[in-house]
Amino acid sequence: MTRIRVTKRFHFEMAHALHEYDGLCRNIHGHSYNLEITIAGNVFRSPGHPKDGMVMDFHELKMLVKTHVTEKLDHALMVNSLINPKHLEALATSTSRIIVVDFQPTTENILQFIADTLKPLLPEGITLFSIRLHETVTSFAEWFASDNP
Ligand SMILES: [Zn+2]
Repeated sequence: MTRIRVTKRFHFEMAHALHEYDGLCRNIHGHSYNLEITIAGNVFRSPGHPKDGMVMDFHELKMLVKTHVTEKLDHALMVNSLINPKHLEALATSTSRIIVVDFQPTTENILQFIADTLKPLLPEGITLFSIRLHETVTSFAEWFASDNP
């Protein structure tokens, strides 16, 4: 039995604003997010089987993350539910992709959101090992399952 970690990289463009933040990030602005999803599992052994030698088909992992995370967040605006309802109403006139979340949309909280979304969707025997989310070229945060038992 060989246990291996497998990582796939994703990319999405998303706008956000940090509610009541004491800096520039209180204004609506966007990031080119780079996301790395690392899963762990045993290498499947079944000579002749199409998935022989794999932990999880990269395509399957890609579709899962695309469908449930990146396609939903891409070109969306994520705002904290504490936003003034009048501001939200005004924003809704210019974009149909507003995601209202009950947390401050920081990289750290988006990581937690992605982990919570993906964990229950992974096939049996596959665990979410870690997630890395780059907000800019020089800034990223990481979530590790071992830190969050
Ligand atoms: Zn930002």
